[in-house]
Amino acid sequence: MASFAPRPIPSPLHLRLAVVGAGAAGLVAARELRREGHGVVVFERGASVGGTWVYTPAVESDPLGTDPARNIVHSSLYKSLRTNLPRECMGFLDYPFVPRGSGGDARRFPSHEEVLRYLENFAEEFGLIESIRFRTEVERVEREVDGKRWIVKSREVGGGGEKKREVYDGVVVCNGHYTEPRIAEISGIDAWPGNQMHSHNYRVPEPFVNQAVIVIGSSASAVDISRDVARLAKEVHIASRSVTGRVPAKVPSYENMWFHSTIERADRDGSVVFHDGSLVYADVIIHCTGYKYYFPFLETNGVLTVDDNQVSPLYKHVFPPQLAPSLSFIGLPWKVIPFPLVELQCKWLAGILSGRIELPLEEEMLKDVKADYQRLEMKGWPKRYAHNFSDFQFEYDDWLAEQCGLPPVEDWRKEMYVVASKNRVARPEVYRDEWDDDHLVEQSYKYFENLVQ
Ligand code: FAD
Repeated sequence: MASFAPRPIPSPLHLRLAVVGAGAAGLVAARELRREGHGVVVFERGASVGGTWVYTPAVESDPLGTDPARNIVHSSLYKSLRTNLPRECMGFLDYPFVPRGSGGDARRFPSHEEVLRYLENFAEEFGLIESIRFRTEVERVEREVDGKRWIVKSREVGGGGEKKREVYDGVVVCNGHYTEPRIAEISGIDAWPGNQMHSHNYRVPEPFVNQAVIVIGSSASAVDISRDVARLAKEVHIASRSVTGRVPAKVPSYENMWFHSTIERADRDGSVVFHDGSLVYADVIIHCTGYKYYFPFLETNGVLTVDDNQVSPLYKHVFPPQLAPSLSFIGLPWKVIPFPLVELQCKWLAGILSGRIELPLEEEMLKDVKADYQRLEMKGWPKRYAHNFSDFQFEYDDWLAEQCGLPPVEDWRKEMYVVASKNRVARPEVYRDEWDDDHLVEQSYKYFENLVQ
């Protein structure tokens, strides 16, 4: 396939910028910032690009992920994971996620290895590797005393553990938000004798042979993990807020899996009681209950807080108004198609840092943030849904695109996302292999052909 390399837009400013993380967000941030001629250093504590998509069989020393002293494993992928979005709409806007070369996984919902290959190709195609310092963890980011620039303290992971202190004009935080587990609160759990873990540390079903397993949650991971475990476990019980209809109820097509309501309590005799009145004796509870935003390296002297998983205040979920534009956050929104969204955030960020695109005044940004919070309240959503974009991701994408002078996100992509989401709910067992939107696939490939220069 021909190159998609965008033409450089040299900026009159030449800034020295630090990017934290070389996952999808950090890679596209580096590309966009370098396009404008800025000096970019990407700090990556792992040994390779890809972030979440670097699968490892390793798990953390605390399977529940609550011990602050545990060893941290970044990725939350399980071995059997295939994407939950169709590849045509999942990829970056100008670098389609289409099968490339031989030996890959050409399926529409491919395995995690294929996504990693795609990100590696992206990094290589745009010459990003030279900007990345691998095995280098950012330990602290703080403002200089005069408040203008940022001090970045980093440490070599392994090796000599060399420490560095450097000064940058700006910091772009792309550290991901699927590593720090959120746990369900369960009455009586401290006395319950079974094991607990978070989906962050789930890899394969073998440890659960003949066990009675409770899976808490209804996210894509909860659906996948319950099915994966059910292949070898004696019983699987899914505790979920969003199950409709009578519970407990057998999961269709499974002899050993049941839906329940949420958990009422756990007892010292090993039983777990659900709000639907049912009781099971379980060996293990797997919390598929999501993750927390976590920036342990960042010191903003109280300007920015994370309260009930709301990162605040953030203008358009990217800039803390008081520290804009030198501090920014890429990729916080969830319930989205992440790659195109982070690509647009980065194009906007790059334009702002170069002075091509204007940011409103600090007070105006704060007003916008307040209006955002009011919308959240009017919807009756808790703070922790502040970055849940389920009902306006495309509005947001198109707003960013407009700021950058780009066309809105393609209609076929928007439609495909909606159709695929419905199909996932309607056919949870087979949505990755059975669909009715071939006409959209055809449209997407026609669109990609026109992108090739
Ligand atoms: P990450 O990929 O998490 O990258 C962050 C990087 O920052 C990592 O490499 C990490 O090592 C590095 N880092 C963190 N802290 C530091 C530090 N202090 N110093 C240096 N480096 C640091 N998205 C889809 O589009 N399709 C899917 O099907 C899909 N499935 C998913 C399934 C699961 C189980 C999960 C958890 C996520 C899934 N996602 C999916 C979302 C996925 O997270 C995003 O697609 C995307 O990979 C996020 O990229 P990121 O760069 O923001 O974060």
